[in-house]
Amino acid sequence: MGGRDMVKTANGIQMEYWNPYLETLSRGELDEIELSYFKNIFSYAKTNSIMYREKLKGVEPENIRTLEDIKRIPLTDKEELRRYQEIEPYPYGGILGVDIKDVTTFRQSSGTTGRPVYVPETYESWQWRVEAWCHILYMAGFRPHHRVFLPFGYNVYVAFWEAHYTAEKVGCELVPGGALDTKGRIHKIIETRANAMMNTPTYGLHIAEEAKKMGIDPASLGIERMLCAGEPMPAATRRRLEELFRCHVFDHIGGTEPCAWAGMCETKDGMHIIEPFFLVEVLDPETLQREVEEGEMGIAVVTPLGRRSFPLIRFNTKDLVIKGKDSCLCGRTSRKIKEVVGRTDDLRKIRGVLFSPKTVEEVIRHEFPEVVEYEIVVERKGIMDEITIRIEVTPDSGGKELEQVKARLRENLKVKTNLSFHVQMEPPGSLPRYMLKATRFKDRRESER
Ligand SMILES: [Zn+2]
Repeated sequence: MGGRDMVKTANGIQMEYWNPYLETLSRGELDEIELSYFKNIFSYAKTNSIMYREKLKGVEPENIRTLEDIKRIPLTDKEELRRYQEIEPYPYGGILGVDIKDVTTFRQSSGTTGRPVYVPETYESWQWRVEAWCHILYMAGFRPHHRVFLPFGYNVYVAFWEAHYTAEKVGCELVPGGALDTKGRIHKIIETRANAMMNTPTYGLHIAEEAKKMGIDPASLGIERMLCAGEPMPAATRRRLEELFRCHVFDHIGGTEPCAWAGMCETKDGMHIIEPFFLVEVLDPETLQREVEEGEMGIAVVTPLGRRSFPLIRFNTKDLVIKGKDSCLCGRTSRKIKEVVGRTDDLRKIRGVLFSPKTVEEVIRHEFPEVVEYEIVVERKGIMDEITIRIEVTPDSGGKELEQVKARLRENLKVKTNLSFHVQMEPPGSLPRYMLKATRFKDRRESER
């Protein structure tokens, strides 16, 4: 249980931590704890999960003496989880780490990249997960005086349930906003006077757009804090949300399988890894072996150190991140991620240039407030790849202005991505609006091959 009333002083600033003890341990202490936790979960997985009994044959816990030794243990990827789920016991198969009678909740991944992974939770593993999340929520400044609106139907998706139970544990008051459309949700925020929200960046922007259509200034809704996740959020998008709602916006990162493993503190400068709940390695994307240096980009490999219902050892998240500093003005001692670049699945080579859709989002949110929605389409015309950006602008922009927007956008994108875009204007309301994870990038080349 966190000591939520305790206050420590860091750099002369009074800081409040969810768990003042864990959040200010020295690097040496954290390393020691994580190594010992890792050995425990490793032995546990080898004994209790069919997948790891087979996968880790020949690697014994006594071979792990230092954090460096961990680098020799094979990684686990999502495809393997899917494969092992095909065996008994249904539906969890070989990833299950407990007796199936002990499972208390069924949840699953969203399945955006293929067949969903079914996730077994026991009461114990769920409590572990929620406690880890409390660090993220508390770090983002959520407190008992916050009435938190959660604008989603939770269904079988783990993130909303985590958000719900965590808000309760931190002492906030929660308003579940499922089974309503966006208009209904805006009315509910007004009716309940909710003053905090948790949502995807895309849906935050969508709420603002809908509110404006209803003649309501999003800033007048009274939201003070917003915690986002689900998509890589460029700083420009975060600032856009902060301006629209006149509130503080924080980011965090996680996934259904590895849990939420890093979050943003009040400095809003990168994200803290939630240590010692997770061992996070940032590995060189080419070799997946060497740990990268501060400021370098790598792939996050995550081991949740205390979840037994579904033990995961060195899970390849496929999240590309830039490794951050080890220290922070907030006084927390955990390692940091400077920036989330995107998913390795989203990176594409277009005309020989490495392209990340996040760069386009950054340009749009930073310099084109009149663009309300967009979509990128890559097609192969003959032997050439062609990129088109379809945009929708606010109803009040028109005529000559539109031609200027198109020209400016083409120029900006060229500078930032080294690629030439066709810009195509679309009528208001014609592009899809996303509730959860946005898929604004369509690569149509694969299907034409
Ligand atoms: Zn910090």
